Amino acid sequence: MSEQKYDKKINGLFIDPLIFTQKFVKSCDVCICSGECCYYGVYTDKLEHDKIMEIKERIIQSMDDSQIKDPEKWFEAPQEDSDFDSGIAVGTEVYNGKCVFLDKVGYCTLQKIAFEDGENKWKYKPIYCILFPLVIYEGALTVDLDHLGRMHYCNKIENQTSTVFDCCQNELKHLLGEEGFNELLKYKVEYFSKNLE
Ligand code: SF4
Ligand code: SF4
Repeated sequence: MSEQKYDKKINGLFIDPLIFTQKFVKSCDVCICSGECCYYGVYTDKLEHDKIMEIKERIIQSMDDSQIKDPEKWFEAPQEDSDFDSGIAVGTEVYNGKCVFLDKVGYCTLQKIAFEDGENKWKYKPIYCILFPLVIYEGALTVDLDHLGRMHYCNKIENQTSTVFDCCQNELKHLLGEEGFNELLKYKVEYFSKNLE
């Protein structure tokens, strides 16, 4: 765990101040990046995996011909991981050089079906997909610098006109709730006032 490293904890998560300072794009635009952060698949919580498998027939209906429609081929074997609520992580498989759920135009099918069915857009989307480039690592909310380093659009200095914090405010509210997010805002002010002295 990251207990020695970070001063602040919100909702049980340590906060790495890197989330305030790391440069990032102003907003994601899959028309430019083709959703390349999805090329490697993602680790889902076992509970998210189960929710996805419950609607497998609905997912298949919205997949295109670049995607594999056999649900048996969608996930890797489960593994223990304490950064997931259930304690078990299940990775999505890569097919045609991208996560099995990414379609050929760069949209996540899990988000697409929620949109098509008038649901909240993140209803079926794994939390680690919602958060990227934020990540929960060893109990701390931080930035996934390794994965970000592989990106060709959002990791280019000339495109990084914002910060992870500013770009991902809705995602942070989703993770921490309004109250937790307000606490994070206060911590950000404290952090900068201490570190700019
Ligand atoms: S995180 Fe980067 S690669 Fe992923 S959708 Fe946003 S801009 Fe595109
Ligand atoms: S589940 Fe969706 S958002 Fe997550 S990596 Fe796969 S395509 Fe991307």
